[in-house]
Amino acid sequence: MTRLVVVSNRVAAPGAGQASGGLAVCLLDAMRDRGGLWFGWNGEIVAQDSDIATTSVQHGRCTLMTMPLTERDHREFYLGFSNEVLWPIHHYRLDLSRFTLEAAEGYRRVNARFADVLAPELRRTDLIWVHDYHLIPLGAELRARGVGNQIGFFLHIPFPPPEILTAAPEYERLARTLLDYDLIGFQTTGDHANFCRFVCEELGGERIAPDTVRLDGKSLQVGVYPVGIDVDGFAAMAANPEAAQKIQKTERRDRKRLYAIGVDRLDYSKGLPEKFLAFERLLASYPEDRRPMTLIQVASPTRDDLDAYIDIRHELEALSGKINGKFGGFDWTPLRYIHRSVSRETLAVHYRASRIGLVTPLRDGMNLVAKEYVAAQDEADPGVLILSRFAGAAEDLQEALLVNPYDIDETAHAMRRAIEMPVDERIARHRALMKRVRQHDACNWMLSFLRALRACRGSPRVTL
Ligand code: UDP
Repeated sequence: MTRLVVVSNRVAAPGAGQASGGLAVCLLDAMRDRGGLWFGWNGEIVAQDSDIATTSVQHGRCTLMTMPLTERDHREFYLGFSNEVLWPIHHYRLDLSRFTLEAAEGYRRVNARFADVLAPELRRTDLIWVHDYHLIPLGAELRARGVGNQIGFFLHIPFPPPEILTAAPEYERLARTLLDYDLIGFQTTGDHANFCRFVCEELGGERIAPDTVRLDGKSLQVGVYPVGIDVDGFAAMAANPEAAQKIQKTERRDRKRLYAIGVDRLDYSKGLPEKFLAFERLLASYPEDRRPMTLIQVASPTRDDLDAYIDIRHELEALSGKINGKFGGFDWTPLRYIHRSVSRETLAVHYRASRIGLVTPLRDGMNLVAKEYVAAQDEADPGVLILSRFAGAAEDLQEALLVNPYDIDETAHAMRRAIEMPVDERIARHRALMKRVRQHDACNWMLSFLRALRACRGSPRVTL
């Protein structure tokens, strides 16, 4: 069988302190059974180049090959270019992007080093799958080292319209490197359309078929492959008897009120201040003795050495303090703000116990929390998903209550609607959502992408 080689910035070691991020979660779900080689950064930082050593460990059917980054690489490649340039612009936030030439050079350097380490490990028949914005030029770097295998790239984050990307220094040069892949996968049809527009309008390419673009004599397949979760695995986690006991305990403690739950990395793209303001507006719309809801918000720490992340953390601390000060009492804290990473097992239990799943990012590639919330529900008495129309998941999950997260009144109104929604309507919506979550699960995502990548064979490549 063809060996699968996955490359991503971070490699998540199953079981070893799980990373809380959509990419790690969906790749773990997808790789568990398939096996193969998974290559990337191990999360460690060393002082200098001479301290870099590659390590390989076997994890079930999967070989995890990892290496550290140097302090300089971490500053320039990871924090600098990946997270202070690419992340904000891909999330439509040019105002937060901080471009420096050193960071751009660090990005190029680390991608070249990844290629140097990986290329000698490759076999002729490997299928190579590169993930996400940290590694856009990796395909081109591998080609430069004579790798002729099929190489696919999947972008987990949004691909914004050309009007935004052209304002980012050096984006054109970077985008051209994408042409060295055989297949590029996007989360939504919107991202796919934006990419095709970029190739045609900015790079001078042409679209020769709905899923094929051509530039400088090279053709590239593009497709939409929405990421998903292991639906049955997650549902089982939420419904196990131990979990049911925990739910009863939670309910006993706070019998008067329903729960809403939000789970996000503490990132400015997640719309957390807007969510808190909507919750405040909801509470203000009820008389003092009839306020119906407690909001549990998990905001897991992420990239907390960057200014934009420090600012948003301060904003949320101030807002949650204000809301609890204004509405809370001796026996009730309206907003339980948890600035810690929580295990998925614990999250599953709390999703199931919550009447509302509140997923309101200002922009998001997909958002797996939305899918997990749906999978975790009790089908006889399910909760209601409130979902931002700017999350990739909204393209699929049309039976959620879709909101514009910038519109505080609209989100507050959706929460009231969810509180009052009769059980029949909740069941009908949940049934439809569950069907869609199943249709695009982790297994499907992986298989459909790999099938398409394999079908790209035939393009004129030098083989190793
Ligand atoms: N997650 C977790 N613990 C946390 C916060 C999040 O395990 O404290 C998981 C969550 O269950 C989901 C993933 O991290 O599987 C977040 O993925 P999503 O696509 O929603 O957002 P991303 O973090 O990738 O932007």
